Amino acid sequence: MRIRHERLRGTPSDVAPILWQYGALARLKKGETIDKLLYGGYSTISLGYAGLWECVYYMTGKKLTEEEGKAFGLEVMQKLNDYTAKWKAAEDIDYSLYGTPLESTTYKFARCLQQRFGIIEGVTDKNYITNSYHVHVTEPIDAFHKLALEADFQKLSPGGAISYVEVPNMQDNIPAVLAVIRFIYDNIMYAELNTKSDFCQVCGYEGEIKIVEEDGKLVWECPLCHNRDQSKMNVARRTCGYIGTHYWNQGRTQEIQERILHL
Ligand SMILES: [Zn+2]
Repeated sequence: MRIRHERLRGTPSDVAPILWQYGALARLKKGETIDKLLYGGYSTISLGYAGLWECVYYMTGKKLTEEEGKAFGLEVMQKLNDYTAKWKAAEDIDYSLYGTPLESTTYKFARCLQQRFGIIEGVTDKNYITNSYHVHVTEPIDAFHKLALEADFQKLSPGGAISYVEVPNMQDNIPAVLAVIRFIYDNIMYAELNTKSDFCQVCGYEGEIKIVEEDGKLVWECPLCHNRDQSKMNVARRTCGYIGTHYWNQGRTQEIQERILHL
């Protein structure tokens, strides 16, 4: 983080006038450096973390959703925040804890952990690592309990975080959608509902394009015409927090396949 900070120091506002001179981030003069914005809480510099679920399970034998696991998880998060606060007090740079999107890195980290520590059940036995403080994608939990639990962790992720619930097609149950949005408004700073709205360009199917196995590899298939040509379909899925449309590596694809619905 210090290397990034040093790299940014001395950057003139002229490199991106819309950001630094015309008000998107600041209104600096021409030729002025951005240095003063790197201090005093104007900007943050992020300490990323992921895999709290696996960490808690390894250390306590409990799930993050269990009382003892939750207490330990909150302690870990608090400790990380204590460090960023200490560094901030010493350097006036806003070090801040951030729930890392870990988009394709989820696969790389999982494989590296397997190589180092072998397969440990519930910890390294997947080809992906759980994002940030999230409840594991395979854990059966309803939308309201998930959001209520994750709200306590989101407070300790001030550099950035997003929570989500996976939902089926909700077009025929708008009151349920509104109930979840209301719950989000009352209980958690930042969260979303994820649904599937895929499209098969071969047969015109609209709905959920499925993940199937082909020679040991996970591929996408239209449930109607069985088209498996990725260039002839549109698939949109939450990657970490945001929605992506560019397909994913095998680790992330496995994670997507194993997601349970929360409504
Ligand atoms: Zn099709």
